[in-house]
Amino acid sequence: MKTLLVSACLLGCPCRYDGKSVPNEKVLALREKYHLVPVCPEQLGGLPTPREPSERVGSRVKTKSGADFTQQFEAGAAETLYIAQTLGAEGAILKAYSPSCGKGTIYDGTFSHTKIPGSGVTARLLLENGIAVYTEDETDQLPSPDAEE
Ligand code: SF4
Repeated sequence: MKTLLVSACLLGCPCRYDGKSVPNEKVLALREKYHLVPVCPEQLGGLPTPREPSERVGSRVKTKSGADFTQQFEAGAAETLYIAQTLGAEGAILKAYSPSCGKGTIYDGTFSHTKIPGSGVTARLLLENGIAVYTEDETDQLPSPDAEE
């Protein structure tokens, strides 16, 4: 069975900044066909839950009040990459728009719900290391569970 990392909040874990989860039925249904491994890069990086929401500001990650969480985001990304490589994950399904997990589009750092092109810290690190990343809306693009290893 192919292994995929999944943003833990998409599987129902209450690890979001506000202590909530965003369970996604389409993603949950994939457990029948893939070995799903939950990861929350922000928790892996040592941040508490709940925590102040953050956005990428250029190369940094900051909260609305100005606290700099870049080090924790980078640590969580490195932990996630380690897990992916150690398990030989075929890819990762990561929560769209998150400053950690978002792929291709994220918020612009003004906390005004404005979206810009870019990826979260973890999504970018996985992509840079050749690991495919899909948002929860791209599950139709996943590698076939039946394809040869
Ligand atoms: Fe979900 Fe990723 Fe945010 Fe964790 S860091 S709560 S897995 S979007």
